[in-house]
Amino acid sequence: MTECIFCKIAAGQIPSDKVYEDDELLAFHDIKPWAPIHFLIIPKAHIVSMAHVGSEHAALLGRIMTLAPRLALEQGCQPYPEGGFRIVVNTGKHGGQEVHHLHVHVLGGPRPWVHG
Ligand code: 5GP
Ligand code: ZN
Repeated sequence: MTECIFCKIAAGQIPSDKVYEDDELLAFHDIKPWAPIHFLIIPKAHIVSMAHVGSEHAALLGRIMTLAPRLALEQGCQPYPEGGFRIVVNTGKHGGQEVHHLHVHVLGGPRPWVHG
């Protein structure tokens, strides 16, 4: 059995506060938010990081990046340009990645934020 926490969340073995789900993707609220709105979008398939993506992942990454603005608005981010959101993908040790299953942070809401 996998020890990957996000694979377990994707499989429903660990509960999460879901924002969106389809066959390939899952979005859920971050357990330790840095901003008033903070959720993660993950592929259900285990991809370790942005350092591990190839051209075969282009469509999947495109889906994540086009889903992000839609979900940001649904979750309460104010429209561009007064509102907006931040997309962060920590990659590797120097990139600050703690969970080694690709995830896209979507952050928004009024400042100040905890950090970032
Ligand atoms: P990273 O530093 O790897 O980019 O971020 C990992 C993020 O996952 C952190 O913001 C952390 O709060 C979040 N996280 C870690 N474990 C869990 C969990 O079990 N459930 C949820 N919802 N978020 C988690
Ligand atoms: Zn995984």
